[in-house]
Amino acid sequence: MSFSTFGFHADILRGIKDLAYTRPTPVQISAIPPAMLGRDVLACAATGSGKTAAFLLPTIHRLMSHPGRGPRALVLTPTRELAAQIHQNLQELATHTRISGAAVFGGVAMGPQEHAFRTHVDILIATPGRLLDHLRNSYASFAGLEILILDEADRMLDMGFLPDIRRILRVLPAHRQTLFFSATMPPEIRHLTSELLKNPVTLQLERQSAPAVGITQAIYPVPAHLKTSLLLEMLRDEELVSVICFTRTKHRANRLADFLKRHNISCVPIHGNRSQAQRTAALAGFKSGQFRLLVATDIAARGIDISDVSHVINFDCPHLADDYIHRVGRTGRASATGDAFTLVSPEEESNVRVIERAIGKRLPRVTLPEFDYTRQSTEKLEVPLAQRIAAIRQRKAQEHVRRDQKAQRASGFQPRPHPESGFHRSGGNPSRTEVDGNRGGNQRYGSDRRGRSSRPAGGRHFPPASGESRHRRPMGR
Ligand code: AMP
Repeated sequence: MSFSTFGFHADILRGIKDLAYTRPTPVQISAIPPAMLGRDVLACAATGSGKTAAFLLPTIHRLMSHPGRGPRALVLTPTRELAAQIHQNLQELATHTRISGAAVFGGVAMGPQEHAFRTHVDILIATPGRLLDHLRNSYASFAGLEILILDEADRMLDMGFLPDIRRILRVLPAHRQTLFFSATMPPEIRHLTSELLKNPVTLQLERQSAPAVGITQAIYPVPAHLKTSLLLEMLRDEELVSVICFTRTKHRANRLADFLKRHNISCVPIHGNRSQAQRTAALAGFKSGQFRLLVATDIAARGIDISDVSHVINFDCPHLADDYIHRVGRTGRASATGDAFTLVSPEEESNVRVIERAIGKRLPRVTLPEFDYTRQSTEKLEVPLAQRIAAIRQRKAQEHVRRDQKAQRASGFQPRPHPESGFHRSGGNPSRTEVDGNRGGNQRYGSDRRGRSSRPAGGRHFPPASGESRHRRPMGR
């Protein structure tokens, strides 16, 4: 089957040709014809299936067929990366048409996005939170909306966006076409579809139960404390040219990236604590080959379209089989082959059994003959809880001292000299260095294990500034 059989406008076919899409993917074959006819569509499709073109192509075609006042189509999607990616795909597919589009997501200025509303772009691709921010303003009107698309609806549910989506739905015209894409169909999503869709064409409703063919998967059993060393050993293999490495938490992603950098592996972390600019730079660097490794958390990496991933390494074994299938689906996309390796500590063995049950086969266990599985490791990715709490307390105590100083400076108060040091605790003299440095906060006064300050009761050397009680609240309560 070729794209010409769908009856697309010639300018759309030119865009498809530029992208070198030769044949439609299964989800495109099933979803495009009913969507072209204006029917609602409910499709179970995961990232990598070609779902983006499955909803963009009929949307572009339908909007080209008659005039209207934008935004005429709205794509709701869970993450900024996905929004940016869909927008890029739209620009490519619609490059020879007059259909315009804009991405609306958080972490960047509202101004250009407001401009997109005011200039009535045809297709808006938005994350729910930022879209709601715009909807508080009169310029954000969807009166001319013809098509609504929900992309990765199950992920939006996981991320807690369901209430936001319902709020958005209230301001959309009831008379519209709705295209609904979700990798899985949990009950809440099923419920939402029954409210939203009118007599939909339902596609591939069986759950995706196995990763794409062409992916070689293996389990690497290893004690938890040796995961970093084993990963280094694995990376000696030069075939691992572009690797996405998944960790359980953002902190582990950061620490693993630091560790790898110290061992001269070019890598970059990507997760929810990083700014939009940092994430964009990380993706661009990974795509261009500047970084060999992208160290990612699930949420950050979901849906990112990177075609040339040679390997996925699960540094931490996912708890859910769906997450595993999604992660390893990052490789082996668009018919390429890829490898997916999972490092599994004894504590994670039960997760492997869940995954194996879901994919219906036992995964091979691999050990590296040259790796010493009995050695000790000094590398720690987890900072013990007590140590983390102590660091937070110390930071907060230093912040309090700084705030006090600022308040005093603002009130013009000149403190008496500090009886121990002879320095003032505020003002433009050396006292600032003293207090802001290591002698600030709990280091200055000390604190017990529960964080209660051991500062002497009468230890104030100057009157409290305004707001003092707030800043001086004992810690650990
Ligand atoms: P998606 O599932 O929409 O994230 O698409 C995954 C990747 O497949 C993207 O890089 C698309 O550009 C690509 N793609 C989509 N449709 C086709 C097609 N018919 N032929 C080849 N590649 C495609």
